[in-house]
Amino acid sequence: MAGKIIDGKSLAAKFKEDIKREVGQLKEKHKVTPLLTAIQVGENPASRVYIKNQKKSCEEMGIDYQLHELPEATSEEELLQFVEKLNTDDKVTGIILQMPLPQQINGRRVQMAITPMKDVEGMNPSNMGMLVYGSPRLAPCTALAAMELLNSTGVDIKGKEVTVVGHSEIVGKPITLFLLSSILESATPTVCHIATRDLASHTRNAEILIVAVGKAGLIKGDMIKQGAIVIDVGINRVPVLDEKGKPVLSNEGKPKMKTVGDVVFEEAVEKASYITPVPGGVGPLTVVMLLRNTLTACKWQREKK
Ligand code: NAP
Repeated sequence: MAGKIIDGKSLAAKFKEDIKREVGQLKEKHKVTPLLTAIQVGENPASRVYIKNQKKSCEEMGIDYQLHELPEATSEEELLQFVEKLNTDDKVTGIILQMPLPQQINGRRVQMAITPMKDVEGMNPSNMGMLVYGSPRLAPCTALAAMELLNSTGVDIKGKEVTVVGHSEIVGKPITLFLLSSILESATPTVCHIATRDLASHTRNAEILIVAVGKAGLIKGDMIKQGAIVIDVGINRVPVLDEKGKPVLSNEGKPKMKTVGDVVFEEAVEKASYITPVPGGVGPLTVVMLLRNTLTACKWQREKK
């Protein structure tokens, strides 16, 4: 029997309702409106799309949004000074640094300079540290999204064998720390990466499989345990193929593209008990987690006053 689809879009809609209500209460009771401030250095078409989505989502929630566009030639020192100005501006309650940054800037250094209370991406070492302590305040949005999708199944993860494929700082590592924190009761995570010798032996052992790599087709149906929960974080653009395996061309003669995850969905859905689709799984919820972090950050700053 095919697995149940975990619908990221409807879960995102539910969270949005809660955020909108809480933002409304903040405004009414405390005359405070969260302000998410984005910094974009130079031109980047991909960031344009994110910025447009962030702005739209904030507007829907009643959160103010502000974009600062700095020239491509901005030095690291200038950017650090700019961040410091935002850190001390009481009106700004959340700061987001759009990636990628120009070569001359060390992104990690700048991310570390964002004050923890305004770090809505959860990337400051102090916020990461709280995750290690099992008391997360602001955590990376994609990791939060993956955990909420898992939580939405209602399945108890306590003691479960979980395999996380990918160990990046923004996704795989924080997910692993969440799995060990007391929020949802500790699981038994195994973390795989590029040097893992026999990936399939670890994925086949997983009662819960979380994949965050960025390689289409990496996880095939025969690598999944019968009845496993599968959370596919990967986002990959691949050509659409016809029944003979040839690329389908658009009217302009260019290959038509589609978005897929790291898991071969059609095979995995036959083995999994629950599975997230791509698109429509982790993606829609990640944006919402940014909004939730923005609200959390605003409340945190208010409590500190
Ligand atoms: P990343 O920084 O490139 O990390 C990829 C990870 O995969 C690394 O830890 C790497 O290990 C590991 N890896 C690479 N090849 C592997 C293999 N063959 N077997 C096992 N592990 C392998 O990427 P990321 O930022 O974590 O993102 C991962 C994916 O999630 C991407 O497709 C990205 O687009 C997607 N994503 C989605 C969202 C969303 O909202 N849905 C948000 C963020 C990211 P090593 O470090 O050892 O090389």
